[in-house]
Amino acid sequence: MSIPTEGSVRPSAWPRPGLEPRVDGARMLRRLAEMSRVGARPGRGITRLGLTAEETAARALLAEQCRGDGLVSATDKAGNLVIRRGRRARRDRPALLMGSHIDTVADGGRLDGAYGVTAACEVLSMLNQHNVDLAYEPVAVAFTNEEGALFPYPFFGSLGLAGQVDTEQARRMSAEGVALPDALRAAGGDLDRIDEAAWPAGSVAGYLELHIEQGPVLEAADVPIGVVHSITGRTVLDITVSGGQNHAGTTPMRMRHDALTVAARVVLAVERLARVRDLCRVATVGRIVAEPNVTNVIPGTVRLTAEIRDGRAARLRAAEQVISTELAQLATATDTGITVKINPVTEPVDTDGTLRRAVTDAAYELGLRHMEMDSGAGHDAQIVAAIAPVGMIFVPSRDGVSHAPCEHTEDVHLVAGANTLLRTVLKVAQP
Ligand SMILES: [Zn+2]
Repeated sequence: MSIPTEGSVRPSAWPRPGLEPRVDGARMLRRLAEMSRVGARPGRGITRLGLTAEETAARALLAEQCRGDGLVSATDKAGNLVIRRGRRARRDRPALLMGSHIDTVADGGRLDGAYGVTAACEVLSMLNQHNVDLAYEPVAVAFTNEEGALFPYPFFGSLGLAGQVDTEQARRMSAEGVALPDALRAAGGDLDRIDEAAWPAGSVAGYLELHIEQGPVLEAADVPIGVVHSITGRTVLDITVSGGQNHAGTTPMRMRHDALTVAARVVLAVERLARVRDLCRVATVGRIVAEPNVTNVIPGTVRLTAEIRDGRAARLRAAEQVISTELAQLATATDTGITVKINPVTEPVDTDGTLRRAVTDAAYELGLRHMEMDSGAGHDAQIVAAIAPVGMIFVPSRDGVSHAPCEHTEDVHLVAGANTLLRTVLKVAQP
């Protein structure tokens, strides 16, 4: 993580002259407010789960908002809304995609995903309005089911765009009695023709995603723009401690093989990976089940699920190796059995250096303090990276809170982020 660039100034110093066009901030905020009513429940935030009627309603609202600006939109076979400049579009040129997802978690916030989508549409509207000639054709995308909160197939829309949906897995999936293929059809997609949602090689020049940080780093540094360097990779570890289940009253302390006290040391060893040894960025044990979980019985078996995350694959592999070795030693020292099953879930993805530079320059020219940082959460950008260079821009989250009704970012930061996106597009796609 780097220090905010020296010599840059605070947001209060802009607008500076000579840096047109700018987004229509008031219009974008109004549209974001309209979007936040779709799936809203009083006092409980927004529940707009992927591949549900609420998400479809959000797509319809977005299409209507864009139509008023002379943009055209269509839902692809993966359920993504793809938005283009109307008759001004140069479909012969590679696309510069911008976007994010339009679904939320249950009781989620108004900005996660929706902000990036609304800002991308605002940028597209301005480029259309000013009839800007670009080397790459700007296209906005609202991805479906990024969260996987109902149908457990996260990143479904971006995987569709990248041509990577496992149709057999998707066919088997259902939620609340509805099969995924049926839910997708109701959303305007078609699993049988999902290949048509994939963009051919070379047709995408790049993908830019603007998103709230969902963490506390930018706010703590008092910096409005984050330039994402890498999107985190994640490994899940299934750990089982096997001891000896026995009577809690009659078994002397020196003759016990208590699986839970050993598990407590496992929890601390996992935490040490990140907190003390800096082998990975974060390390967490989020789930623990003791058996038989009865007050007067020494626990015989404990199952833990841990996860570690980092922006570099080599560090993840090293941390996996270290914890495996350490837990083997712990098993020997405590005369218990410890098994570790390592499941790499996602590999880290680096953003593209040219796009990163463009975001940095854009923020600098707009007089916005900025810093490089890693994304601790997963994003559609990590999927699109399989077919095109990607870049990501973060804006601060109040108190670092996301996936909650109180998720909030100051309006001035929301508009600054959108202007950074617009300026980045102009830099990247200048003829
Ligand atoms: Zn998101």
